[in-house]
Amino acid sequence: MLDFCRRTLIGKPKADSGKAKADNVTEARKEKAIAKPSHAPRIAAGASLLPQVQRLSRDQHDISRKDISPNALKVLYRLKDAGFDAYLVGGCIRDLLLGIKPKDFDVVTNAKPEQVKQVFRNCRLIGRRFRLAHVVFGREIIEVATFRGHHSGTEDDAETAPKLKTSSLSDHGQILRDNVYGSIEEDAERRDFTINALYYSVNDFSVYDFANGMQAIAERKIELIGDPETRYREDPVRILRAIRFATKLNMQIAPAAAEPIPQLAVMLKNIPPPRLFDELVKLLLAGKAFDNFMLMRDTRVLKQLLPQLDKLLKQEPEGKAFQLATKALQDTDARVAVEKPVTPAFIFAALLWYPVELRSQTLMTDGLSELDAMNIAMTEVLDDVQRTIAIPKRFTLAMRDIWALQSRLTKRAGRRAFKLLEQPKFRGAFDFLQLRAQAEDGNLTELALWWERFQFADDTDRLQLINQLGKEGVDKGPRRRRNYKRKRTAE
Ligand code: ATP
Ligand code: MG
Repeated sequence: MLDFCRRTLIGKPKADSGKAKADNVTEARKEKAIAKPSHAPRIAAGASLLPQVQRLSRDQHDISRKDISPNALKVLYRLKDAGFDAYLVGGCIRDLLLGIKPKDFDVVTNAKPEQVKQVFRNCRLIGRRFRLAHVVFGREIIEVATFRGHHSGTEDDAETAPKLKTSSLSDHGQILRDNVYGSIEEDAERRDFTINALYYSVNDFSVYDFANGMQAIAERKIELIGDPETRYREDPVRILRAIRFATKLNMQIAPAAAEPIPQLAVMLKNIPPPRLFDELVKLLLAGKAFDNFMLMRDTRVLKQLLPQLDKLLKQEPEGKAFQLATKALQDTDARVAVEKPVTPAFIFAALLWYPVELRSQTLMTDGLSELDAMNIAMTEVLDDVQRTIAIPKRFTLAMRDIWALQSRLTKRAGRRAFKLLEQPKFRGAFDFLQLRAQAEDGNLTELALWWERFQFADDTDRLQLINQLGKEGVDKGPRRRRNYKRKRTAE
């Protein structure tokens, strides 16, 4: 157990690890080539996974204050004026260095959350797993975290007993609670990837690189800080983050970080379903959905998250389930690229359509009506998915609408097509039909074309379109049921 905890804390022992390494690190720090200004990070003593910190002064990097959110700058200056250390950290620095507009600006400080709250009136404290301060500026929220320390687990913890109260690990090595404060170096060590352990200070406008992140950026490499297996076990969501950053930043996951993923992907099952939903939204609604999907499929991550779909993809790697997923995800990426709205409901509806359809067909073979079979199939598949990914109800309701309307789109005779067109859900269902038509070809292409014409025709032409249908528009769904009946009598 002790050895396991030690591994979790400092990574697998290396040939040159232990005291000698710690001494080297300390020695190296003493001989630091770059002059350290008085306000440079105070480095904690002790063994570290990290190389020597590199300081890039203002003339050695391209980050300018005009690229930084004025509110984030306000937070940095206010904390500084109150006597605290404060840095911009993580994704925003990484993105600015890569010439990408950051999604958000995160601040890290040595002030405790309660102290942050005292500095800002517009501040609220959130989070249980790790307590954070949110400084609210209208619609923009600047997240301020206190330097994170090591979680507990070694024999040394006798001295740091209070830490034990605020952090814990599961039997799988997963961090359950993480409310331990530490030094900036410990904070850097607790970060996931080397490219995310970059800190920017308004004291000297320098970037502090704790894990050779600049080099990784130059080499376009996603690498974990420390031992990859340990770091994935501590928080399996890092697997999803590695995939997301690789596609978002157009980088490669370094071999050492990529290699354990297929084997450890099963640990994603231990992640609370709401967190997995949030991560999937980031993977599927941020413009790289298709690339992320392919990487998740190839690394056995998809098998853990959406086993229903993964099974179909295994049976027929290029089949219609794959085609529909591809079309839906590429379509979503194209919409994101031109800033059109996208919804998780449509994507999840596409990813899970064939598992639902298959289940519904089986239930019809068992004698259920088309309507009942569809309702039961939708409920079963969604219940099954919810055990892993907590898709909020407003989205599952929209998914059900899209799915249920697919069969109604085949029944167009009389007033039915007119009624359907008035449905607020029609547009989504029609878009979905079009994607299915592209994925399957065959009859659906004709049906999608018919609806396209019907939507844009005047009333006279619409009636003509309906008349041209004859019997076909009344009864497409049950035809399938007749097939099943025939099949059963033949058996
Ligand atoms: P983006 O905002 O573009 O998704 P990001 O890197 O800023 O990317 P956030 O989720 O905003 O991602 O996290 C901010 C920083 O917090 C990260 O850069 C990383 O240093 C750290 N971090 C986030 N999640 C983890 C994690 N699971 N394990 C370790 N460090 C993490
Ligand atoms: Mg961020």
